[in-house]
Amino acid sequence: MPLVCEPEKCRVCGCTPLNPCLIRFEDEDHQEPCTWLDFDHTLCTNPACIAKVPLAELLEMPILRGAI
Ligand SMILES: [Zn+2]
Ligand SMILES: [Zn+2]
Repeated sequence: MPLVCEPEKCRVCGCTPLNPCLIRFEDEDHQEPCTWLDFDHTLCTNPACIAKVPLAELLEMPILRGAI
């Protein structure tokens, strides 16, 4: 087996595709499972997770590469 380090796991909350966290929308009465924010799948789209990552680090993430 290839050696892989924590694939498909959010760096902040530790959720995985098999166990995603739920994002609650303040103005709506429903929840939605998170998805991946970045191309490398190390951060999910939960606003609570995004808020914990410094902006400088977010700008370095693959999702924004190529958009610049
Ligand atoms: Zn997360
Ligand atoms: Zn999540």
